[in-house]
Amino acid sequence: MEQKQSVSVLKQVGEQRLKKLKQMGIETIGDLLTHYPREYKDRSRLVKIADLSETEENTFIAYVRGQGKVAKHGKLVVTRLKVFDETGEISVVWYNQPYMKNALQMGEAYLFTGVLQKKYRTKEVISPEYEKIGEHFAGGRIVPVYPSVKGISQKMLRGYLETALSETQGTLEEYLPMWLRKKYHLAERNFAIQNIHFPHTEQSFYDARYRLVFEEFFLLQTALFSLREVWKNRETGIMMQHAEALEDFQKQLPFTMTDAQKKVLTEIKEDLTKGGVMNRLVQGDVGSGKTAVAMAVAYWVVQNGYQAVLMAPTEVLAEQHEKSFTEIFADLGLCVVLLTGSMTAKQKKEALSKIADGTANMIIGTHAVIQQSVVYHNVGIVITDEQHRFGVKQRGMLTEKGVSPHVLVMTATPIPRTLALILYGDLDISVIDALPPGRKPVDTLAVDTSYRKRIYAFLEKEVKAGRQVYVICPMIEENEKIEVENVLSYTETLQQTLPNCRVVCVHGKMKGKQKQEIMADFAAGNTDVLVSTTVIEVGINVPNATVMLIENAERFGLAQLHQLRGRVGRGAEKSYCILVSDAKNKIAKERLQIMTKTTDGFVISEKDLKLRGPGDFFGTRQHGLPELKIANLYQDTEILKTSQKAATELLKKDNLLKQTEHSKLKNYISTWFDGKTLEL
Ligand code: ADP
Ligand code: MG
Repeated sequence: MEQKQSVSVLKQVGEQRLKKLKQMGIETIGDLLTHYPREYKDRSRLVKIADLSETEENTFIAYVRGQGKVAKHGKLVVTRLKVFDETGEISVVWYNQPYMKNALQMGEAYLFTGVLQKKYRTKEVISPEYEKIGEHFAGGRIVPVYPSVKGISQKMLRGYLETALSETQGTLEEYLPMWLRKKYHLAERNFAIQNIHFPHTEQSFYDARYRLVFEEFFLLQTALFSLREVWKNRETGIMMQHAEALEDFQKQLPFTMTDAQKKVLTEIKEDLTKGGVMNRLVQGDVGSGKTAVAMAVAYWVVQNGYQAVLMAPTEVLAEQHEKSFTEIFADLGLCVVLLTGSMTAKQKKEALSKIADGTANMIIGTHAVIQQSVVYHNVGIVITDEQHRFGVKQRGMLTEKGVSPHVLVMTATPIPRTLALILYGDLDISVIDALPPGRKPVDTLAVDTSYRKRIYAFLEKEVKAGRQVYVICPMIEENEKIEVENVLSYTETLQQTLPNCRVVCVHGKMKGKQKQEIMADFAAGNTDVLVSTTVIEVGINVPNATVMLIENAERFGLAQLHQLRGRVGRGAEKSYCILVSDAKNKIAKERLQIMTKTTDGFVISEKDLKLRGPGDFFGTRQHGLPELKIANLYQDTEILKTSQKAATELLKKDNLLKQTEHSKLKNYISTWFDGKTLEL
């Protein structure tokens, strides 16, 4: 049996089960072998029938007495069988499984697992798991429990795995080099796979798990780090000259850049003058001034005769960027062009021709900017705002005559360094670690709905004083239609409650143009209260807004709340963030409390991680990376760090994995990574 073969080679797997297994992501024997247990049950402790527990699962050995009996109670078919040991007798019972009558042999011993139920005088164990005790029986054991779907029982999965393991025993390729295994005490792969499913001892389980978790982190990071090496060593990057343009640009700004911004600019300057291709992530809290950094770099690139592209996650943000870029660059005689999906055919045509003939110096838009139909004159840099995985493929689309544009990724998502390395291991990382001076921390309150009256009175007071307010509407369900109805009725209620305020709303179902008008109106101060559904819609800069009111705050991740809060506190006035929640749950309350205690994005993300676990937020899938099957980004932090060290060490020895002792590893990584972003 080979790992590449379909699981249908297992004789127990017919067409139906094949489908179910596919649903679970198991198509090949290899997939099956890496379908790791979710937990384990200790069946090594055996009890006697007289001591069976009614509250916990018991594992016991008993002999079958007599034949099974089948009885019908209405629609229910009950199969009952007596079993005994030296301390007593009980019935084992199955419902609607008449074939169980003959499944167990009279006089034979079986290992049963189940919970005892006492009814009147009878003692029963309902639907126990059972296993015949053959000659090889060596006592109860630790058994795996797998993630599964309906129709594939634990017993089946265990059976498949037993077969697959014994058929592939000793044939699994070991791709980790010997020196690495020795140095980091990593168990051999066959051993690890065997023992992660059916551990012989507790120690062998730990050794197996350590090896597999290490391997997963290690492979991912080696892949990402080597990708970074490849880009770095590619000498076809565009070399920028006249770096004094960076200084010149800063003179155009109404403020001086912070030291943190300058430091990042220096790092970027090095990237762009060395001749390699830049791949840099700039991390900076909301309001830290990433856009200003992006502008400076774009300006410099344009001064070198190349086009700069800025890609934003939504149309509203793209439009906002276009506006602020135009404000600064139009005076300097540069042409800024917007390109979004919702522009009219005529507008698009005009933009495209400017982009193609080089009239456009800066191109700002959504994903539309990297569509195939866009022909660039000469792209020097692509800057993305909150678009973390700008992969090789996208870059390829902009590469001309073998020249790749530089890539700068901006994110406000504060990620602890160890995690950043795994999510962005292919990027160099810069951090803008200070806010511009004069920012006042936003006062944050977490309250329940009994405060609503007071809150509304407060909103009115702020509006009277000439300020503006954001309201993030309650999210009831993940259903767009309901969400829209919801925001509309909330807005209506608010309009009635605050007759002296101009309350408007914006939501995801609106046309781009309509949204843009509403946002522009709000930014211009023509409306007072903006009710919004989605988070992204408020990714805008309105310094006069001083209140961020968030309903059902418990439904947001802390990182998201932090982002939302970052929308206020941008002007001279004191700002407030009010988190409304009726959540009773302790963790939910604790999370909201964290928001009231700190404004440091890194602290918030670490705490959030601790309380929630990595979950979706740090899900590697979401970042376009292969799924982690066994490693846990949060709990396995120590192994993560060690594997990071190991990956760095490996690439120091052999940066492009050219040595023979690393050839298996190299092969494995490129298949595992699905060729998605990896081009070793
Ligand atoms: P980010 O994109 O990192 O969230 P922005 O670039 O939008 O932050 O900056 C937020 C606000 O701060 C903008 O109004 C911008 O003009 C202003 N700003 C940026 N850098 C500075 C600075 N060094 N000093 C003062 N204000 C700044
Ligand atoms: Mg920004």
